Amino acid sequence: MRLLTRTQVQAIRAAMQTFVDEDTSFGRGRMLPRWCVYCQRDRPGAGFIAYDCGDFCNECATDFELARAQGLVRTVAEFFARRTGEARRQLVQAIAVSTESRADGGRAQAL
Ligand SMILES: [Zn+2]
Repeated sequence: MRLLTRTQVQAIRAAMQTFVDEDTSFGRGRMLPRWCVYCQRDRPGAGFIAYDCGDFCNECATDFELARAQGLVRTVAEFFARRTGEARRQLVQAIAVSTESRADGGRAQAL
């Protein structure tokens, strides 16, 4: 597992937010909710990402990108396979630990 700096986490979240911003810009206004194959719920339509496993809401897509950057999963299929039950709980916990455990983003900012 690779622990991410705060700067790295912020950069990934910011990059994923651009998909939301793009979908809501230029007068497109509010998009209709869409079904997320990952969290199995209707989610805000802006910022959906199409993966091999189906379309993920922006929140789930962000979780995947964070998990992949941390080396917790290597593929979207691996992430998708861990979307329920104990496997999901452990993955969410690992994402949270990794993203919170390195508060020092100074090195990345200096590069
Ligand atoms: Zn979702």
